[in-house]
Amino acid sequence: MNNEQQSFLLSLVVPVYFEEECIAQFISEATTELEKHQLNYEIVFVDDGSEDQTVSIIQEHIKQNSRIRLIEFSYNHGKASAVTAAITYAKGDYILYMDPDLQDPPDEIIRFVNKIQEGYDLVFGTRQEKKDTFINRMMSSIFWLTLDSLTGLNLPRPLAVMRIFSRRFADEFLKYGEANRFIEGLFMQVGMNWTQIEIPQRERFAGKSKFNFRRKMELAFNAIFDYSDLPLKLATRFGAVLVAASVFFGTSLFIARFFMEFKLGWPSLFLMLMFGFGTNIFFMGLIGKYIGNIYKETKQRPLFSVKEFYNIQEKA
Ligand code: UDP
Ligand code: MG
Repeated sequence: MNNEQQSFLLSLVVPVYFEEECIAQFISEATTELEKHQLNYEIVFVDDGSEDQTVSIIQEHIKQNSRIRLIEFSYNHGKASAVTAAITYAKGDYILYMDPDLQDPPDEIIRFVNKIQEGYDLVFGTRQEKKDTFINRMMSSIFWLTLDSLTGLNLPRPLAVMRIFSRRFADEFLKYGEANRFIEGLFMQVGMNWTQIEIPQRERFAGKSKFNFRRKMELAFNAIFDYSDLPLKLATRFGAVLVAASVFFGTSLFIARFFMEFKLGWPSLFLMLMFGFGTNIFFMGLIGKYIGNIYKETKQRPLFSVKEFYNIQEKA
C-alpha cells in the first residue's frame, strides 16, 4: 500500500490570513502525518494579505522543507480567491484543501487519501459534531435550509473544511471563472463522482475566527444571490399579488361608496403609502444587488493579484 501511495503527488492547499499563531503547529502536525504515511506531498500556502508574521514564519519553514510553497497576495482578496489560487498552482494528482487552524485534524488526511483512491473525484469531510454556540448553529441551519431550497444544491451537512479531490476535478473547477464565488457551491456544482466522510473536530488551535457575525451574514447572502435568481422571481410575484390586492381593494371601495357613508382617514393612506414605497425600495435594492454582481463580473478583474511567489514556479 505504501509503495503504491508514494507514486502520486498529494498537494495540501491552505489559505492563511493572520495565522502566525497556528502556522508552526500546523506544519509540524501535517508533515509528521504525511511523512508517517510516506506520502509524496507539497504544501501550497496562500497568504491572503496578512500583516503579521505569517509570511515570514512560512518562509523560515521553506528553508528547511522544500516541499512547502507560498503564494503571497498583495492584498486581502477573501478566502475563496485564496483557495482558488492555491488550486491553480498545486501540482498534485490529488489535492486536499484544509485550514491551518487545526479545527480539522491533520491525522484525518490519510482517510481522505484512502477514500479518494476508491475511485471518487471528490470527498467532502463532514463534521462529527459541530462545536459552536446555539445561536451560531441556529443561524447556520437557517442559512443551509434557505440555500438548499433556493438552489437545490443539497450540500452534505454539517460541512467541514477538509476535502480532497482529483486532478480531473481541479482542472474542471478552475474553468469556473466567476468573480462572485461561493466556493462550497462551486465544489458541488462541478459535482462529478463525490462522496463524504465524517471527521472529528477540534477547537481552533490559536487566534480568532476571521468571520464575525456580520461577515458570516454577508457570506450567506452572497452565496444565495450567487446561486439563485429566485429572489427576483419572488419579487415579481409579490408585486403581482400587491397589484391584484389593490385592484380588489379599489373595486370594493368603489362599490361600497354606493351603499354606505365612510371616510378613509390619512393614517390608513399613510400606511399604504409607506407599505408601497417600502416594498418598492426593498425590491429595488434586491435588483441592485444583482446588478452589482453583474458589474463585478463584467469588469473581469483577475481573481487575485500575487505579490510574491516563494518556492513556486510562476505560470506563464
Ligand atoms: N481566511 C482567508 N482570507 C480571509 C479570511 C480567512 O484566507 O479573508 C482563511 C483563514 O486564515 C483560515 C480560513 O480562511 O485559514 C478559515 O477562517 P477561520 O478559521 O477564521 O474561519 P472559521 O473556521 O471560524 O469559519
Ligand atoms: Mg477555522
